[in-house]
Amino acid sequence: MGPMYRVLILGGGFGGLLAAQRLKRAPAQVTLIDRRNFHLFQPLLYQVATGSLSPGEIAAPLRSVLSKQKNCEVLLGEAADIDPDAKRVTLADGGVFEYDALVVATGSQTSYYGNDSWRPNAPSLKTVEEATAIRHKLLYAFERAERAEREDEARKWLTFVIVGAGATGMELAGALAEIANQTLKHDFRRINPSNARIILMEGGPRVLTAFPEALSLKAEKLVTRLGVEVKKDVMATSVDENGVTYKHGDTTERLEAKTVLWAGGVTTNAFGKTLAARTKAETDRSGRIKVTPQLTVPNYPDIFVVGDLATLNDEKGKPLPGVAQVAMQGGTFVAKAIRARIEGKTFEKAFHYFNKGDMAVIGRAAAIANIFGVQVSGLLAWLAWLFIHLIYIVEFQSRVVVFVQWGFEYLTFSRGARLITGVDVEDSVSKRPPTSNS
Ligand SMILES: Cc1cc2nc3c(=O)[nH]c(=O)nc-3n(C[C@H](O)[C@H](O)[C@H](O)COP(=O)(O)OP(=O)(O)OC[C@H]3O[C@@H](n4cnc5c(N)ncnc54)[C@H](O)[C@@H]3O)c2cc1C
Repeated sequence: MGPMYRVLILGGGFGGLLAAQRLKRAPAQVTLIDRRNFHLFQPLLYQVATGSLSPGEIAAPLRSVLSKQKNCEVLLGEAADIDPDAKRVTLADGGVFEYDALVVATGSQTSYYGNDSWRPNAPSLKTVEEATAIRHKLLYAFERAERAEREDEARKWLTFVIVGAGATGMELAGALAEIANQTLKHDFRRINPSNARIILMEGGPRVLTAFPEALSLKAEKLVTRLGVEVKKDVMATSVDENGVTYKHGDTTERLEAKTVLWAGGVTTNAFGKTLAARTKAETDRSGRIKVTPQLTVPNYPDIFVVGDLATLNDEKGKPLPGVAQVAMQGGTFVAKAIRARIEGKTFEKAFHYFNKGDMAVIGRAAAIANIFGVQVSGLLAWLAWLFIHLIYIVEFQSRVVVFVQWGFEYLTFSRGARLITGVDVEDSVSKRPPTSNS
């Protein structure tokens, strides 16, 4: 028997994890490398950011998820470079890994459209750290408003701007409105949390542009009913610690707000850029690698790319969306292709994305869904959303915990994880508000 076929998978997100799991019975040595030791369920990150769930409930250690898969080892490390001709990947710490087949599933990162200086004042939602930073920022704003002496100061702390009305922006806006109107209703003495202004800014002419127009109108109605102000056709031109300046047509306007959250688009991360450079692969505007219908890098049939890092057009010529289902189906597809190769079979099938439906949640009992062309909104869409998100949470234990949390929160309007912790908390607490009572 010759040496074992080596499959190297970079990234244990939706795409990489599925690829590893689908290679379970393959006669191959599978190595999965991720720079984090956990798989993160990003679709529920906004619930961590808004105090409904704790990080541990939406993250699962990769080592334990794959502990029963004997042909797979999980290693912690960050892919930094690749030599595609020598079939070798180098990690940031110098580790070197050779492969027969490589699956790159390193995902994406938030794009500030070239304005990275906005990042410190407008955190985005992509990692656990960012989610807890947002939670910190939101809750802290109410605390500071309570201690403000002047009306205008309190107003600034109670003004929240969310830039980008895609699914993440809508989720954040809806949840924040519920925090202000329900969760914190009885918790303060000086301020009335429901006086908070929540503004959702969108560059395009409508919210949730990826959805059919009728559903996007419904979603706008639902979020407006919660008290969110939607501003369309506006472009942020600068963000600082006191608010946002934006353009609406030819006029420039300013919103004073102590909390600005960024829910814009995504772009390729560092390793994705390196891979494109080393393989001279073509990329799209967001830096995603244009893969072949077999999900390989052109001229490098041993390098597969799945998920957010890849771009491929569907049968109608439209690029596949950067969603979990595309990544998961991509992972499954490349596992099949790799198995066929190991068995010496030809595998010329093209990747076909089967869209099981698109959904966005707006708030309690409010969501929209487009399932096989059937448009649903309101309670039914929300129940479908709950069910689907629950079944896709990786670990059974987390699934149960999340289910119980949601049930409890639904009945009591509470949010159990309303803790101000993490990033610069000491800093922000020790910097006393100028009007402290002591
Ligand atoms: C806030 C938010 C909400 C979302 N909501 C939804 C939703 O409701 N429905 C939906 O379908 N999609 C949603 N998405 C999109 C979805 O999460 C992504 O499309 C999906 O995660 C892409 O999968 P992936 O495997 O390509 O990347 P990811 O799941 O992002 O995984 C990438 C993995 O690679 C690792 N990694 C990165 N760089 C390196 C490196 N150099 N070396 C080693 N490891 C590395 C990361 O640690 C990570 O584990 C949401 C995304 C966000 C941010």
